[in-house]
Amino acid sequence: MKKILITGAAGFLGSHLCDRFINEGFHVIAMDNLITGDLKNIEHLFKLEQFEFYHHDVTKFVHVPGKLDYILHFASPASPIDYLKIPIQTLKVGALGTHNLLGLAREKKSRILIASTSEIYGDPLVHPQTEEYYGNVNTIGPRGVYDEAKRFQESITMAYHRFHGLDTRIVRIFNTYGPRMRLNDGRVIPAFMGQALRGEDLTVFGDGSQTRSFCYVDDEIEGIYRLLMSDYSYPVNIGNPNEITIRDFAEEIIKLTGTDQKVIYKELPQDDPLQRQPDISKAKEILGWEPKVGRAEGMKKTFDYFKTLSKEELEKTEHRDFSSRNK
Ligand code: UDP
Repeated sequence: MKKILITGAAGFLGSHLCDRFINEGFHVIAMDNLITGDLKNIEHLFKLEQFEFYHHDVTKFVHVPGKLDYILHFASPASPIDYLKIPIQTLKVGALGTHNLLGLAREKKSRILIASTSEIYGDPLVHPQTEEYYGNVNTIGPRGVYDEAKRFQESITMAYHRFHGLDTRIVRIFNTYGPRMRLNDGRVIPAFMGQALRGEDLTVFGDGSQTRSFCYVDDEIEGIYRLLMSDYSYPVNIGNPNEITIRDFAEEIIKLTGTDQKVIYKELPQDDPLQRQPDISKAKEILGWEPKVGRAEGMKKTFDYFKTLSKEELEKTEHRDFSSRNK
């Protein structure tokens, strides 16, 4: 039986990866320090013999007994609200955590895939973003702790690949959504859905003309799986190129959820990228991958998930209002 270590396993993407690799017949070692992850996302796996959970912070030395075929490094805060609350941990998990896991991969002769992000492109001056674009990042802005940690992560991964011959993969993940997103992480989809369910107005930041391109989680996981199984060591964008303005997106959510709430406008947070859309030519060509789930279908499934949350959980939300800080 192949053995895989998944870090950030109790998070949104990590938990879906655990499900996928269990279904593929792997032995899964799930690791998380539970700062932003939630055991609820993986509790259904605890009864399985081929599943183990380690409560561990990967910025400390990582030990796993026995052989290890694959490592997926998905541990990291991943929302602007988190970067502000835990900036040092965000930097450490991308930098020190990645270093520890690369060392573990070397020791165990494992293939390692690291989760990078469209954030390495910053507020992009090239549109759509190809893997060749170097990005436009403000190193000292509120998002810098995440963006630069992820950029360092890519560099150290390539250094281990070139210098030590390590078998590495780098996925650049664009905005992804689906069941198990954290309601209070401040990101636009849980924010809008939570607001719709609580009967509050939807808060659009800026004039809402900024764009994003949202990928349903099942498509994202399929792309990551294919990249891991490929022999391609350079970064690959995995995301859905279907781009929409945040203003139009808010209108879509109002229609989908059937609320009679309206859209209200708030200040645009600092360094909020104005446009984002992946160029996925590489993923198509190398992995034969492209997204299959449209926004209407994906958003409906996601809303069905948020509807299952209790009233107490729905109230535990946090409003993201840091637009004037750190200027
Ligand atoms: N956004 C918004 N209202 C919210 C939360 C976010 O208009 O309540 C905007 C945010 O300013 C950004 C977009 O939605 O332009 C996506 O934000 P998110 O935090 O989900 O992801 P990211 O900016 O990292 O792509």
